[in-house]
Amino acid sequence: MKLSLSNGYFSLGNAFYQQSTPTPVSAPELLLWNTHLAEKLSINYSIEQDDEQLAQYFSGNQLIDGSTPIAQAYSGHQFGHFNPQLGDGRAHLLGDISDSEGQSWDVQLKGSGTSFFSRSGDGRCALGPALREYMMSEAMFALGVPTTRCLAVVATGEAVYRERPLPGAVVTRIASSHIRVGTFQYFAARNDIDSLKKLTNFSIERHFPQLKGIEGEVLSAQQVVDFFAAVLNKQVPLVVSWLRVGFIHGVMNTDNTAISGETIDYGPCAMMNHYHSDTVFSSIDRNSRYAFGNQSKIIQWNMARLADCLLPLIDDDEDIALAKITPLLQQFANDLQFRYFEMMANKLGIAQLADGDIELVNDLLAIMTKMKLDYTQSFVTLAANLNQKEVDKVIAQHSDGESNNAGEEVGSAQYQWQAWLSRWYVRIAADVEGAKDLMAKTNPLVIPRNHHVEAILATSQTTGDLNPLHEFLAVVQQPYELLAQTAAYQDAPSDGDENYHTFCGT
Ligand code: AMP
Ligand code: MG
Repeated sequence: MKLSLSNGYFSLGNAFYQQSTPTPVSAPELLLWNTHLAEKLSINYSIEQDDEQLAQYFSGNQLIDGSTPIAQAYSGHQFGHFNPQLGDGRAHLLGDISDSEGQSWDVQLKGSGTSFFSRSGDGRCALGPALREYMMSEAMFALGVPTTRCLAVVATGEAVYRERPLPGAVVTRIASSHIRVGTFQYFAARNDIDSLKKLTNFSIERHFPQLKGIEGEVLSAQQVVDFFAAVLNKQVPLVVSWLRVGFIHGVMNTDNTAISGETIDYGPCAMMNHYHSDTVFSSIDRNSRYAFGNQSKIIQWNMARLADCLLPLIDDDEDIALAKITPLLQQFANDLQFRYFEMMANKLGIAQLADGDIELVNDLLAIMTKMKLDYTQSFVTLAANLNQKEVDKVIAQHSDGESNNAGEEVGSAQYQWQAWLSRWYVRIAADVEGAKDLMAKTNPLVIPRNHHVEAILATSQTTGDLNPLHEFLAVVQQPYELLAQTAAYQDAPSDGDENYHTFCGT
């Protein structure tokens, strides 16, 4: 096989990283290989002939041609507290690869050994979290959520110690870049304006080439403002799609917020079952900072931290710079809100928001909260029961003033539900088939539910059998199609995941 990388980030100079080589492992074995992603990246290989070579490359034992491995420097606000030096403590950016359309993608190993940034960490990753990242990111990709992806998981043959010995693994992450809000904060905290400009130019070149200036000209204030607006625009579909599918990131620190708007860092993430905006599963998120319903607010906070870093590139007078940035943050808040309600309306088969739709959405969510209804199943059921006859019947009863067709007690949950249903039917009555189509595209039939993911991880780790994992992937990779096996993964957990907790950095 022939594979080569370049490393654009390397050319930024050593203020941006520490050169660092992956630490070899004793017995690399290729466990998971993402054939679809490999194809997209135009990697030519034969899985029969090359699996040992792939294991060597994607464990970090052997360097790919052209690779100049580095550990990237970054800072970050962790749970609101600024840490000036984080950086890749267990990851190596090997370089970048071009896909068939000429777009560059970072190839990064995670769990590949210590670096200058490791602090007290061992630089390693346990197999469970590596498999989990692969499963979750593939499921998210198929759900239509912008995300980093996994190309490979390689077992190391070595143990990592997390209270007890666990099998180790290296996961290969593919991202359009690993530039985070925290990367900008790293240079802003050091008052390194030159590096901030270089980073902005690099980010423009990689992510927003339409904003590139004339060759040789210095970065203008307007370009920086436009760059910030472009970064904001990438975060809107990111968070709105998390809210669409019930994803809780769990650790939206600024070092885990990519400027590309891709989901990054699957450590403590989880999926919501019954709807509640306060849902949190991460064991270290004690104040529920990153609860399901807080994610819109947090992305705004994180973007305000990015704005802090960019101000000196816009104007020496902070007030002037702020006057240019503040309206963009206000617009961002409006966009998030508008796109959120539009998306929720889409979940109800409504293509365009009209008067009353926001109340319709909020009233449904209030009922779902009160009745502890499963988020995913509720929309699937609403769509499944939707047909012209039923709609016409309920509307006829409604106009006769008998919306309480079930004879429910006024004020009961069931009564409220019936009343809401008739309002919704009135709203979509003009085009029931169109509504059904839109609902089918917007609402997944299946999500990577916590209890299934955990059960599969347990089997994979205790028996080494990866078949259950592949069977699961085959279903969640087509979340909008009803496959023979879909029903096996649609169930909500019997205990509501009441005692389910996720962990960070494991
Ligand atoms: P995370 O919680 O994965 O976002 O990581 C936060 C910081 O801790 C980053 O600087 C990581 O590189 C570092 N880190 C996490 N796990 C380890 C580990 N096992 N060894 C070294 N550094 C780590
Ligand atoms: Mg991280």
